Amino acid sequence: MNKLKLDDLDVRGRRVLVRVDFNVPLKGGSVTDDTRIRAALPTIESISSRGGILILASHLGRPKGSADPEFSLEPVATHLQTLVSAPVMFVPETVGPAAKSAVSMADDGQIILLENTRFNPGEKSNDESFSAQLAELADVYVNDAFGTAHRAHASTVGVADALGQAAMGYLLEKEIKYLSALLDNPRRPFLAVLGGAKVSDKIGVIDNLLPRVDRLLIGGAMSYTFLKAQGIEVGNSLVEDDKQDIALNLLEQSEGKLMLPADHVVASAFDNEADRRTVEGGIPDGFMGLDIGPKTVESYHRIIEKAQTVVWNGPMGVFEMSNFAHGTMAVARALADATRDGAMTVVGGGDSVAAITQGGFADEVSHVSTGGGAMLEFLEGKTLPGVAALTDT
Ligand code: AMP
Repeated sequence: MNKLKLDDLDVRGRRVLVRVDFNVPLKGGSVTDDTRIRAALPTIESISSRGGILILASHLGRPKGSADPEFSLEPVATHLQTLVSAPVMFVPETVGPAAKSAVSMADDGQIILLENTRFNPGEKSNDESFSAQLAELADVYVNDAFGTAHRAHASTVGVADALGQAAMGYLLEKEIKYLSALLDNPRRPFLAVLGGAKVSDKIGVIDNLLPRVDRLLIGGAMSYTFLKAQGIEVGNSLVEDDKQDIALNLLEQSEGKLMLPADHVVASAFDNEADRRTVEGGIPDGFMGLDIGPKTVESYHRIIEKAQTVVWNGPMGVFEMSNFAHGTMAVARALADATRDGAMTVVGGGDSVAAITQGGFADEVSHVSTGGGAMLEFLEGKTLPGVAALTDT
């Protein structure tokens, strides 16, 4: 990746605006999962220990372009202070006089966290004047927010252009390294495991990965659109009827690489306690498929275990309900097994990451991506605007 990197930057005594992904869950004013904050620590600590003045910018949630206390980053600043030794100061503004004065008074190595970038309507519209106001606060820019790298916003693109010198942080660099390794010359067998609710979200990824992978395993509700398109009964399962033609096309293109579940855990209702059974082939009327069945689990596990490179995005069933979580957990375990045998394994997407964490396997795979949408767009072969905006070397 021919982009300026954090290690190439001289940060001592300079004001470094770092776009981080602190879009973390909050409850009662506290951070309930600090994975994303911890993921940015190597970059933060490097700049702070080298004597740079850190100005951190992030969005949190979906405020409507104006200040909304529910989405304030103040609790995140409090939490960050428990993780770093340098002093952390929260500024209740993203840009403007208070932000400017906080930066001008900061000592080398100090950390300033600005208020939620999305409190300003100019963030999502990549507004030039909001970008310029952000740029006024700093000398150089670092992007470490992989989760928003697929968005051309003021804090991911506009400010990079305005500051001129823009580098990748360590997290962004690591994400791009692992994801590029999937697309460029992966060790074989190379496997993709895709699940989740909708085939429509994954068409671009399937399209781009099919020519590259040795096998593509499908699970989750999106299986039923593929199965129905082939004339197999799917009962009341979730199906995107308008995507059947595309599904059929992908199957034809796939030269037998695309695998669908051969059996299913089905239930009479979308309820953990509903009447449930395992069926092979078609799904009878009055039932819906909510997880891949035991034979599919076994065959997917066997294929995953033999792979040298695996990427996984999307659950195999309704893993939020314990009776339909088995397939997803089995895939998580299979990835951990493959990693132990030397495979490179990458997991991304909120639900798969939640599942692999829940199963206790998050430390047993090669890389857990912090991006869902960004990872999918990268795997679709798209250029991420937040990466494109960084300085070429
Ligand atoms: P996505 O956001 O597309 O990755 O989809 C994730 C969601 O798909 C999760 O909330 C799962 O509960 C849901 N899901 C997975 N399999 C099924 C299924 N067979 N029927 C209904 N929902 C499902």
